[in-house]
Amino acid sequence: MSYEGHEQHFCKNGHLFTEDDWMSRASINVPKCPYCQEESVICNPVDDTNFESYGIIPDFELAKLMISSSYECKCGCPVKHIVPAVYRIPSRDEIEHMRYYQPDDGELIKFIKLKKGK
Ligand SMILES: [Zn+2]
Ligand SMILES: [Zn+2]
Repeated sequence: MSYEGHEQHFCKNGHLFTEDDWMSRASINVPKCPYCQEESVICNPVDDTNFESYGIIPDFELAKLMISSSYECKCGCPVKHIVPAVYRIPSRDEIEHMRYYQPDDGELIKFIKLKKGK
């Protein structure tokens, strides 16, 4: 079966968005944030082959990085829009410690930590 995946991206303003298969497409264009159009500064690849999610950062881990949650704008513009949640941008090392494996039956399994716990 061919590779299928997506990435969880953070833009420099701390917005979280997903992009399908950017890494495997090897596109030279860095994905841009749909909220503020800034480029992605760090991303977490998730392997979705065989309907599994390998390496996903689940919502409850993302919540630990959240600075402010999303809300519907109150600026009086004619079409209401969502002001996106803002996250503290994680380091590569932090990302490595927030990754999970989610098989088809849906139960999350945390990756074994690479560092020895003390
Ligand atoms: Zn953004
Ligand atoms: Zn508005």
